Amino acid sequence: MIEPRDVVAAKRDGRELQGDELRAFVLGYARGEIPDYLAAAFLMAAYLNGLSDDETAELTRAMVESGATLPLSQVSRPKVDKHSTGGVSDGVTLVFAPLAASLGLAVAKLSGRGLGHTGGTLDKLESIPGLRTDLSPDRLERQVGEIGCAVAGQSEDLVPADGALYALRDATATVDSIPLIAASVMSKKLAVGTDLILLDVKAGSGAFMKTPQAAAELASACVRLASKWGRRVRAAVTDMSQPLGSAIGNTLDVAEAVRLLKGEERGRLRELSVAFAAEALRALEGEERRGAAARAEQALDSGSAAEVFARMIEAQGGNAKVVDDPWAVLPRAAVKRDVRSAPGYLAAVDAEALGRAAAALGAGRMKKRDPIDPAVGIEFFPKIADRLERGDTIAIVHARNDDDAAVAEQRVGAAIEVTDWQVEPPPLVYGWHGDETARD
Ligand code: URA
Repeated sequence: MIEPRDVVAAKRDGRELQGDELRAFVLGYARGEIPDYLAAAFLMAAYLNGLSDDETAELTRAMVESGATLPLSQVSRPKVDKHSTGGVSDGVTLVFAPLAASLGLAVAKLSGRGLGHTGGTLDKLESIPGLRTDLSPDRLERQVGEIGCAVAGQSEDLVPADGALYALRDATATVDSIPLIAASVMSKKLAVGTDLILLDVKAGSGAFMKTPQAAAELASACVRLASKWGRRVRAAVTDMSQPLGSAIGNTLDVAEAVRLLKGEERGRLRELSVAFAAEALRALEGEERRGAAARAEQALDSGSAAEVFARMIEAQGGNAKVVDDPWAVLPRAAVKRDVRSAPGYLAAVDAEALGRAAAALGAGRMKKRDPIDPAVGIEFFPKIADRLERGDTIAIVHARNDDDAAVAEQRVGAAIEVTDWQVEPPPLVYGWHGDETARD
């Protein structure tokens, strides 16, 4: 009989835990047999003392075993999953899923909700009136077979231990630990039977990993886990030292995704979505990367990715008119306020502070069950190294009232650094990790 208290004490004292100890602890917690206070103590001990590769693998295995798996055996197209470690204005999934499906791939995506300063794909999608993300595993698989993509929430059935542990980590300041994030991310990916896992490991002020080096460590930890399971993975370390797109909110993100899917907008969010689609085509179909990227660009510019998005929305009960005319369908905030610039060059952005400012307007939640307001948020336009003239509109705050808008305006001003000299813009992708050498 394994005593949960002994498991906590062992980790506190730096002893390497055995698979059966981790399994008993995680499954016991997922079943509600181990109280939060013991699990919180375990998480803090793991956070402070770290977990070895073997412990991380056993933790991941136990998390996968806590629920059902989704083999997707009925789906005949090549299957790809994509996951971001979380960022600000990170709408890649909304673009990538229909884009990849329009290119003949299948994407069964289990997404999360926004927490703290990071946005969540489910909240964004649910801002489309009528749209449901609580799809049963059967329905998810059927939709992927028919349309090529589905985006749903992690249900009670799939990886319930991650749902429970993630909420507890958020409440106990134990989120930003490499082995705990790797186990959390990879348990969700390993529970779904895909041919390729794509990971977007964010680095910078708006990410859990603040430096490209720490993000590369996380990417390697995830790659090592995937290879223990014999699964193919490609992990990109990408820039999150500024918002990726311009929208930080929920309806704002959907409207931005629609513009991108219709080929109406350029920029880093489009570039990264195309890079992931091209990587999937390269790895799964053997396409040469440049040609694959051109095909992805064409799917955006021709409207074929937008068509798939409309079908996905309809299949999930949402109003697909959002693709023709987003603001005829999406709720709008009562107050809009422009934020104006001082002259100079944008040198640095505290993306986490922008994410927190949007969350404080009501776009995100501080606690797991907080309600959100889909209509509020911030649009932030410039990118690092851009020239700003006095009075340029650098952001638009969408708020419920004037007081909230004034606070957000101040927070946007405090989150940026403007200098007289131009800094180097950060790269979009720092590098790829994974079991293959990329071909150009
Ligand atoms: N995303 C996840 O799914 N889990 C984490 O722990 C952090 C980011």
